[in-house]
Amino acid sequence: MPDISFDRFYRYDELSGLLKAYAREYPDLVSLESIGKSYEGRDIWVVTLTNKKTGPAEDKPALWLDGNIHSVEVTASSACLYHIEKMVSGFGIDRKVTHCLDTRTFYVCPRVNPDGAEWALGEMKRNVRSSVRPYPHADEQVDGIRIMDVDGDGRVLFMRQSDKNGPWKAHPEEPRLLVRREPDDFEGDFYRLFREGEVAGYDGATVTHTPPREGLDLNRNFPAYWAPEAKQMGAGPAPFSEPETRALGDFISTHKNIVTAVAGHTFSGILLRSCSNKPDAEIPVDDLRAYTRVGELGSVLTGYPAVSIYHDFRYHPKQNIAGGFDWVYEHLGIYFWTIEYWAPHKAAGVDMTSQKYSDWLFDHKAEDDLAVFRFFDRECPGTAYVDWYEFNHPQLGPLEIGGWDILNSFHNPPLHLLEKEIAPFPEWFVYQALMSAKLELVEASATRLGDKTYLIRLVVENGGYLSTAGSEMARENGVSREVVAEIELPDNATLLRGKTWQEIGHLPGRVTMMASPVFMGTGFDAMDRRSSRASIEWLIEAAPGTTINVTARQQRSGKVQATVSCA
Ligand SMILES: [Zn+2]
Repeated sequence: MPDISFDRFYRYDELSGLLKAYAREYPDLVSLESIGKSYEGRDIWVVTLTNKKTGPAEDKPALWLDGNIHSVEVTASSACLYHIEKMVSGFGIDRKVTHCLDTRTFYVCPRVNPDGAEWALGEMKRNVRSSVRPYPHADEQVDGIRIMDVDGDGRVLFMRQSDKNGPWKAHPEEPRLLVRREPDDFEGDFYRLFREGEVAGYDGATVTHTPPREGLDLNRNFPAYWAPEAKQMGAGPAPFSEPETRALGDFISTHKNIVTAVAGHTFSGILLRSCSNKPDAEIPVDDLRAYTRVGELGSVLTGYPAVSIYHDFRYHPKQNIAGGFDWVYEHLGIYFWTIEYWAPHKAAGVDMTSQKYSDWLFDHKAEDDLAVFRFFDRECPGTAYVDWYEFNHPQLGPLEIGGWDILNSFHNPPLHLLEKEIAPFPEWFVYQALMSAKLELVEASATRLGDKTYLIRLVVENGGYLSTAGSEMARENGVSREVVAEIELPDNATLLRGKTWQEIGHLPGRVTMMASPVFMGTGFDAMDRRSSRASIEWLIEAAPGTTINVTARQQRSGKVQATVSCA
C-alpha cells in the first residue's frame, strides 16, 4: 500500500511519488500520465481509475475530478488523493465502489497548479493566487507588499504597527484579535495591518497591497465568458494561454467520455454549480433536474449547501465571474461542480442559514470573528492564530508579527481536522459517476429467414440515469454524438439491407421520471413517451456458421459489443 496519511499536505516530489506508487501497486485499477508541464516545468498528473479488466477507460462514462488550481488551496489535492485511496482500497470490498470501477472511469488531477502549491508549501513560503508566471507584465516593477514569510519561521502571517489613524483595533473581549475600527472609535490603540512580506519600492511612507507581480488566476483563463484583464482580474492574455489550463482543456475536450467535472477549491463549505453567468431559468430543464438531484445528495452527505453560482455565490453583486471552469458545461455540456472545501466559520458554529456565503467573506459581525477565533483557540491553540510578537522589519522597522496563519486555518483546515472534512466526498463522487447513461445489451441475435439469408438484430438499452447525450446542453451544442450502431461483416457475407454504420439518436434516461407513477400516461411524464431501448436490424446473406460482430457505442454512455453466429 502507498504510504499515505491525511494529517499532512504533500509537496510536489512526495505527491509524484505517491501517485507512481498507486500506479505500481494497483496496475489493474490505476494508470498515471502527465498531461503537460507547468510554467516551472513540473508535471501535471492525471490518475485514471477504472477496472481495466472490464474494458478500457475511454469506453466507459467518466467523471473528472481536480484540485488546487489556486495555490494555497491544498486541501483540494488531499481530497483527490483521498478519493484515489478510497477507490483502490474499496475495490472488491465495497459493492458500490466495485460496480463503479467496473463500469465507470475517474480521471483525477490532484494538483492542477503544482508551481503555486510548491510556493505555498515550500521552505521559503510565498502566497500567490494561482500561477507563478509574472503577469500582466514581466518587466514591471510593482510596488507594495510581496506576501511572504519575511522572518523565516515557516509561516506567512500578518504584520501590525501602531498608528493613531490605523483602521484596525483590538477586539474589546479578546485583545489578540483585530477587528474593524468603527466610525465613532476615536480613543484607544489603533493599528495598520499588512500581510507579512517585503515592501517592494518602499518610499519610506506608503505601503499598499498591490496586485501581486504573479497576477494570474488560472480559474479565469478558461474560454466561457472570458474577458480581458481590465474587465476580469487575472484573466491572462487569452483563453487557455497558460500551460496548466491548456493541459486541462486538451485533456477534457479530447476525452469525450467525460460526463461530469468537479473542481476542488477552498474555502466556504459549499457546493457550487452552473451557471455562473445566467439564471437557472436558462438551464435546460433536464439538466437542472440532474443538478438538483446531485446537489441534494451532496448536501446530505457533506453538510455543504448546493447552490447556483449565479444566484448565490457572487463575489460582487453586479459582476459575474468570467473565464471560470464552468466552460466545461457552457461549451461541452459536461456537468460542472466546484467544491469549496472547509468552512471555519461553520465549524465555529456561526449560523449561515440566513446569509450568503460569498457575502460573509466581505462583511460579518465581530461576534463571528470572535467565534472563529475561539474555535481555533480550542482546536489548535497558538498555531492557527499566532500571538503577536515583536520583529524588526528590514523596511518598516519595529512592528509585530502574528494573527491568522491563514494557510492552516481559513484556506485549509488544521491538519487534525483534514480527514474528517474530506471523508464524505468519495461517496458523492461515486454517485455522480453512476449517474451517467450506460448502454446495456438486451439482445443480439441472428435469425435464419431463407437459405443463406439472416436477420441480424441488436437491441440496446440505456440502463443509466442520464440521457445518452449526457446533458441537454451537450445535445444542443452538438458535442455529444448520437448512439452509433455498427455491424462488422466478414468477406464472405453481404449486407442486403441496413447500414454498416448508423446513428440511431439518443436514448433517454431516468432523469425525466416523476417521483410517483400517478401521472403515468398523461403526457406529463416525459419518460414514458420515448423508449430507453432501441432495436436495430440488418438483413444479410452469409454462409451458415458465419460469425458477425455488432456494436453500439456512445461517447458518454459506454459501449456494448456482441458476436452472433448464423446457425
Ligand atoms: Zn479557489
